[in-house]
Amino acid sequence: MKNPRLYVVATPIGNKSDLSARAIKILQSVDLIACEDSRVSKKLLVQYDIDAKLVSYHKFNEKQRTEELKKVLDAGKTVALISDAGTPCISDPGRILVKELFESGVEITSIPGASALTTFLSQIPRCSEEFAFVGFLPRIKSQQQELLKKFSFIDTVFYESANRLLDTLQNIRECFGDSAKVAVARELTKIYEETVCDCIGNIIDYYEKNTLKGEVVVMLYALKISQEDDVVHEKVKLLSEQGYSAKDISVILHTLYGYNKNNVYKLALSSKQQ
Ligand code: SAM
Repeated sequence: MKNPRLYVVATPIGNKSDLSARAIKILQSVDLIACEDSRVSKKLLVQYDIDAKLVSYHKFNEKQRTEELKKVLDAGKTVALISDAGTPCISDPGRILVKELFESGVEITSIPGASALTTFLSQIPRCSEEFAFVGFLPRIKSQQQELLKKFSFIDTVFYESANRLLDTLQNIRECFGDSAKVAVARELTKIYEETVCDCIGNIIDYYEKNTLKGEVVVMLYALKISQEDDVVHEKVKLLSEQGYSAKDISVILHTLYGYNKNNVYKLALSSKQQ
């Protein structure tokens, strides 16, 4: 009997040559490949002479398939998990399977490769090592704003579809004002790959004039506190009106949003003197 093992295998996000040599070897050798959509995966697998048996594993059958795949692994077989593109479990199915198998003591090996998240992060200008990744944003405007506000102290990366991008950017402008800065990458690793990085107003202008198609990743940069920062002004004003002292306001806004305490303190003092 072979050693049962789950391989979590990253596949390309556009450029088919991004499938690693190790990924090819593993996909050629496993007993079974669990994939999201067999029509999508077959196109890739055929190019590399990979002829393994396929079984569907997608967000609508994750729980049931997890049980079935556990039985396959219990019988001593090897299984690879792939998604339509990129790394499984990153805004893609797989977490339920990995969690269950991990807890049951099954060996799991990740075969790293493309992900829109890491591809994006490694090619845009960044000032900080820290970032938050929130997957896809909620569709409802107020929930979207709530989530982005919660992370406004840190560079926040999210996935978006091209046809919702403009609405989302407008929502960001409404919430954080014109000084908000974003980076947007479209069609990473593909022929029409494009990355833009600017303040939200310019990016909206750009996409109002240019075709917006394909797959998109976005980063909303951490809000910078400055005298002109409308959002911080607004928060300071609200807390001031509630009777909080300048010191309390600086501690509250630092704790909640990571804003610089001294800057907030000065802002709160000046707003109290007005
Ligand atoms: N698991 C994948 C990964 O590791 O990147 C992500 C899957 S998620 C369902 C699909 C989303 O990833 C797309 O809607 C888009 O936001 C982003 N994405 C995938 N491929 C991309 C590409 N080539 N360029 C830009 N964004 C991409």
